[in-house]
Amino acid sequence: MSDDCLFCKIINGVIPADIVDQNDTALAFRDINPQAATHILIIPKAHIASTRDLNDGNIHCLSEMAVMANKIADSEGISESGYRWVINTGNDGGQTVHHLHLHLLGGRQLQWPPG
Ligand code: AMP
Ligand code: ZN
Repeated sequence: MSDDCLFCKIINGVIPADIVDQNDTALAFRDINPQAATHILIIPKAHIASTRDLNDGNIHCLSEMAVMANKIADSEGISESGYRWVINTGNDGGQTVHHLHLHLLGGRQLQWPPG
């Protein structure tokens, strides 16, 4: 938990969010500024600032997030049509919220390469 972290505040219910799924390790909620018909953020409940802070002691949260993302892709109906996972890291990566999050994007044809 980090006092000034937006996503920690969502985890603690201080800031409302449209929660899609959660368990002891991970939480999923709809992005407030969706870039596709399905745009859901999956985050660890522990405050991990970015991929740079993943290590042997906390890496299990990433597999929990991946399994949750797969479950949500099924419930959103995008498993067959396809989707994209995105994790932005640091300034050049476009990270604006410094609590690790996996973007699950789908429901339209996504372009490549990203901007
Ligand atoms: P990133 O640029 O990878 O750090 O992504 C941060 C994401 O968080 C952006 O897609 C924002 O739209 C999203 N976001 C910011 N504030 C909120 C919020 N209060 N609830 C849901 N999503 C948010
Ligand atoms: Zn946090």
